[in-house]
Amino acid sequence: MSPVSRKRKKHAKKKPPKVGGKATIKFVCLQCNIEEDIPKEVVDYCDMMDDGDISVPPRFSCEVCGGEMRPKEYLGVHGIKYEL
Ligand SMILES: [Zn+2]
Repeated sequence: MSPVSRKRKKHAKKKPPKVGGKATIKFVCLQCNIEEDIPKEVVDYCDMMDDGDISVPPRFSCEVCGGEMRPKEYLGVHGIKYEL
């Protein structure tokens, strides 16, 4: 019978970053005021695709009430800063 070493109870001490280092943009529903964090790359993509009126920030529809969600604060790909 060979004794099994039980000295490996600790793994490497590593704290995983909370959001994986990914930036998110806080969106707020204009109707029910619910807040949602949307990955910046998704918002950037929408902003890029929206080549119509660049004075309007990218918007999403609220999953709760179907209302319009707008970014609380977002610096768009066109260099425009949108704020609520
Ligand atoms: Zn809503």
